[in-house]
Amino acid sequence: MTATYDVAVVGAGPAGSSAALVLARAGARVALLDKASFPRDKACGDLLGPRGVRLLADLDVKVRDAGSGSDMLVQGPSGGRLRLPAYPGLTYADHGVIVPRTRFDADLREAALEAGAEPIIGRVTRVSGNVADRPVELDTSAGRRITAALVVGADGALSTVGKSCGLVDDGNVLWGFALRGYVTADVPIPLIALLDQRPGVIFPGYGWLFPGDAGCANVGIGVGTGHGRNVPPLRPALAAFVDRLRTTGDLETAEVGRLTGGWLKMGLVGTVPARNRVLLVGDAAGLVNPLQGEGIAPAITSGVLAARAILDAPAAAAEVYRAALSDTYRRFAAFAAPLQATLLNHPRLTSVGVRALTTRPLRFVGGTWSLLWNDLVDGATPRPARTAARILTSAAARVSARSVSAQILERSLR
Ligand SMILES: Cc1cc2nc3c(=O)[nH]c(=O)nc-3n(C[C@H](O)[C@H](O)[C@H](O)COP(=O)(O)OP(=O)(O)OC[C@H]3O[C@@H](n4cnc5c(N)ncnc54)[C@H](O)[C@@H]3O)c2cc1C
Repeated sequence: MTATYDVAVVGAGPAGSSAALVLARAGARVALLDKASFPRDKACGDLLGPRGVRLLADLDVKVRDAGSGSDMLVQGPSGGRLRLPAYPGLTYADHGVIVPRTRFDADLREAALEAGAEPIIGRVTRVSGNVADRPVELDTSAGRRITAALVVGADGALSTVGKSCGLVDDGNVLWGFALRGYVTADVPIPLIALLDQRPGVIFPGYGWLFPGDAGCANVGIGVGTGHGRNVPPLRPALAAFVDRLRTTGDLETAEVGRLTGGWLKMGLVGTVPARNRVLLVGDAAGLVNPLQGEGIAPAITSGVLAARAILDAPAAAAEVYRAALSDTYRRFAAFAAPLQATLLNHPRLTSVGVRALTTRPLRFVGGTWSLLWNDLVDGATPRPARTAARILTSAAARVSARSVSAQILERSLR
């Protein structure tokens, strides 16, 4: 039997549930499919940034968070720590929140279901017939076939929807991988540690220790793997990081619970985010911030943008959505992906630079670093850090305009 919908949303993570919520509230007939039964876990640092906090408020969605926080500490290879302040924004909040994903994703999905989206548990195995003039067909593992006028692919970094529809050029994607576990600790403020993998040579990623539910913290380590998917051994790297946290007094125990990991697809490069009747959102579109790995807020943003494009212009949704993504992310992506590549390709220079930036005399760079790294320049309140961040953004974008990733990005969004 074939069921027919206005929109089939594949994946009920933050991107898919946000899209389904907006569509269902507007009266669309929406199927919200996921291979998992909820609540389900998702490997994550569980930190939702200031843009995400504002988005949830705008959507009027309440989630069971585990507290909030504003500033963040960055530690350099020599142990120096720099405080990155969280400024209030014009378009985002002055703080982030801790969102253990088992609860957060279930709450967001529940909001979409309450708005009228129809839940379907099943793995989408193939999407076919993505042409301009007839509905799209989806096959699921349960042998069920669904047709929909439009499809939102929100099925994560390894998106089946994206691959099925020929939207992903795997070799051009900018990949990362991260591993996390929970540990007993009271962590007052999120900490990101930029480490050397051997003296003077930076590790191609970072370790983190983030607050969690009372008495529990989230510890993890992530790497950028460039355009390939070769992950260095992360378990020993995480164990070494935990040892280091014990020597600095940030952790008492070395016992980390079960480790889970996941891919990060970053910088919007290597994926065409929409064509004909299929729109990709969140990780499926490669929206993770290449500099610090944040993906929840971009997932919600893109889910909302895709839903609005569908509601406003159903016959031209792909074009409208690509333009909206371009308006929102092009400026940041145009410098962030090339910058990440440059840092990874020059591990010695990066180690020297990070050491310098995390020493006491350079404390004043914290505000600028915070805005640049966290993609908070657009919508920032006027202050010297914003001016400096704007100048650096446009200088970096000009320098990297001819880089391979900047050119791939242009092709993807065109
Ligand atoms: C270890 C780690 C730490 C991270 N830490 C942070 C952090 O602290 N803050 C932050 O902002 N971001 C973080 N990220 C990134 C963040 O987790 C993602 O960007 C975010 O989850 C993207 O949301 P999404 O809805 O696009 O995809 P997902 O959350 O991955 O949801 C995709 C959904 O699709 C379903 N699905 C997949 N394939 C199919 C299929 N074929 N058929 C049906 N359903 C399918 C899955 O079951 C899943 O529910 C981290 C990532 C990792 C790996």
